[in-house]
Amino acid sequence: MLTIAVSKGRIYEEALPLLAEAGITPLDDPATCRKLILQTTRPDVQLVIIRATDVPTFVEYGAADLGIAGKDVLLEHGADSLYEPLDLNIACCRLMTAAHKDAPAISGRVRVATKYVNTAQRYFAELGIQAEIIKLYGSMELAPLVGLADCIVDLVDTGNTLKANNLEPRELIMNISSRLVVNKAAMKMKNKAIAELLDQFEQTLAKRCPPCPT
Ligand code: AMP
Repeated sequence: MLTIAVSKGRIYEEALPLLAEAGITPLDDPATCRKLILQTTRPDVQLVIIRATDVPTFVEYGAADLGIAGKDVLLEHGADSLYEPLDLNIACCRLMTAAHKDAPAISGRVRVATKYVNTAQRYFAELGIQAEIIKLYGSMELAPLVGLADCIVDLVDTGNTLKANNLEPRELIMNISSRLVVNKAAMKMKNKAIAELLDQFEQTLAKRCPPCPT
């Protein structure tokens, strides 16, 4: 049995066609059913439906053999404990700083609201900017509006969420896409099954174009 960890929402929706090409179609829809383990059309493959930020943890500890996770989540988690063999080029977006449209450019000490504490810390340290990072779990866009932070670090796709809140994107930290991650022990113990699956994903991806920007 192979267990694949995936989060609900955009990543799940965009992963479905890829999984289908490998013969894996869930027997239930997580949007309408409360099951956390979904059997699939392949009796040897099941999906576990978890929060995006928990995917690396499940895979690291072997509770799932494979996972599909955004590069943002992997950067924040620290990905040394996992194999990351494949960029699936789905759920593409950008990890960016953003600030109020009238706010001056960052200079000196800066207060940053984000859920990406480690990534933001590294980013500002590399620029030599002294940053106080404030951890938030959601609605980051509110922080600059109420004086909690000078700027935010968050995912940007269309930019509509920023615009609706009088914020604007500033610096690109990284282009983001979802990656396939594999538990290190499973890669050895279940090598044949995992290698076959990787091959099927690679073939499907090769037919698709263009990839997300990197
Ligand atoms: P947008 O308004 O299209 O720029 O989308 C921004 C909002 O969607 C922010 O709240 C982001 O955290 C979230 N978002 C955008 N792209 C993704 C993604 N690939 N994965 C998860 N959240 C995303």
